Amino acid sequence: MLPNFFKLSSKHWSARFLLTVIAFFTTISVGTLASVAQNQQNTRIIATFLPIYMFTRGVTGDDAQVDILIPPGAEVHDYQATPGNVRELARADILVKNGLGMEEFLEQLIANAGNPQLKQIDSSQGIEPIEDDHDDDHGHGHEHEEGNPHVWLDPVLAQQQVANIRDGLIEADPANAETYRTNAAAYIEQLQQLDEEFTQRLAPVRGCKFIAFHDAFPYLARRYGLEQMAIVELPEDSITPSDIQRVAEAVEQYQVKALLSEPQVDDKRLQQIANDLNLPVEQLDPIESGEADPQYYFQAMEQNLQSLERACQ
Ligand SMILES: [Zn+2]
Repeated sequence: MLPNFFKLSSKHWSARFLLTVIAFFTTISVGTLASVAQNQQNTRIIATFLPIYMFTRGVTGDDAQVDILIPPGAEVHDYQATPGNVRELARADILVKNGLGMEEFLEQLIANAGNPQLKQIDSSQGIEPIEDDHDDDHGHGHEHEEGNPHVWLDPVLAQQQVANIRDGLIEADPANAETYRTNAAAYIEQLQQLDEEFTQRLAPVRGCKFIAFHDAFPYLARRYGLEQMAIVELPEDSITPSDIQRVAEAVEQYQVKALLSEPQVDDKRLQQIANDLNLPVEQLDPIESGEADPQYYFQAMEQNLQSLERACQ
């Protein structure tokens, strides 16, 4: 069966080859810290995946022991927990998650870990989710009953996530409350600056419509007056002239000025379509992979901002 080249769907781009391309990221050690503060070394914190790790480390600072459950480079949405994850969770004190159905594996993993002491922090607590589109009949596997989970890509909602993490850490580890407050305030201030930058620089292109390859940007788009119109999926096999025609029609319908791919994705076919349609290819990073460093969020978002400026100009 030939998959449709273009369809309206909330299904993910399942770029399996991506895993091998950036697998080396998994070698980045997030637990090897030269100095561990006396007062934090006994608290074992686990964050589920990259943005949650970055926000958590933004609150704890460099001296805490924070591990990341899903190694950067692994596909987050279809993640299957490993026996190693069970062992990690069994001896953890605090688990920080995105929530909103992002970590579908978590319920079973927690049950398997059998750790009654484990405290959980839901970083999206109190955030009203945008409903996923269920507008197709293609039987996709990326539906979120709890709405679209990609709240971390909105710098304003990210502030709420950081505040939730701060409050959860203070409750679980009150001895370090002051450290958590100070660090969270600095990180939230950076997020506020990022929001101001997005607001200013995207103001001239309000109303810009874009086509993404991953249903990751509805919060970002809503915040800055852009419109994520549709999700384009590339099939595993070769594209046909009718595939290109479908994309061309959508591009015309939405008056799209660029195709938006993702970093580290092999976009030869996308490049071919872009050439045929005489459109540039820009990249939007859902930041589900990357460097395990709290500041990486701001680097990646700056790249996203530049991509949106170029795509919408
Ligand atoms: Zn995603």
